[in-house]
Amino acid sequence: MIACLDLEGVLVPEIWINVAEKTGIAELRLTTRDIPDYDVLMKRRLQILEQHHLKLQDIQEVIATMQPLEGAKEFLHWLQSEFQVIILSDTFYQFAAPLMKQLHFPTLFCHYLKVDKAGKIVDYQLRLRDQKRESVKKLRDLNFKIAAAGDSYNDIGMLEEADVGILFCPPEKIVQEYPQFQVTKDYGELKAAFENAMRHFTKGPE
Ligand SMILES: [Mg+2]
Repeated sequence: MIACLDLEGVLVPEIWINVAEKTGIAELRLTTRDIPDYDVLMKRRLQILEQHHLKLQDIQEVIATMQPLEGAKEFLHWLQSEFQVIILSDTFYQFAAPLMKQLHFPTLFCHYLKVDKAGKIVDYQLRLRDQKRESVKKLRDLNFKIAAAGDSYNDIGMLEEADVGILFCPPEKIVQEYPQFQVTKDYGELKAAFENAMRHFTKGPE
């Protein structure tokens, strides 16, 4: 059994929203909740950084002040005692590093930023298009049972491919569009949903 978890909105706050708040650039608040097309969203973010002359280091300084969500460390610790855990995220390794340290370095699959010599973010490299969905698909090909949890549009592919898909604190719009997924609103409910998945997976043949 493998548990696949989204990162932002599930274990840590939204990185870009924090950057928007610290820099005072309101437009950086846009997330996949607002613009479901990740490429369109990322191109827009890079444009905004360029306009404001923000470099990778400026963003990293903001991220270094962030902490996992209240209760996230304990939840992840429990989850790792029951499942092998892989975090599937659309963030970038350069952004996630300080937060991964606080979470004791769980396995993370995410993307990579291209940075020039002056430290300017010039582009980004997706590890794989639609990597959350593809990762779950491939893990299932290896005969793993997958329970997955996420909060946003970029998680839907992963939840659809998983044996059990769980929403965690999603916006109301997503709850209505995807009524097939169980909705959880705190770590207690999320833990119960993973425990259910576990029972379902270990039931064995009738
Ligand atoms: Mg998220």
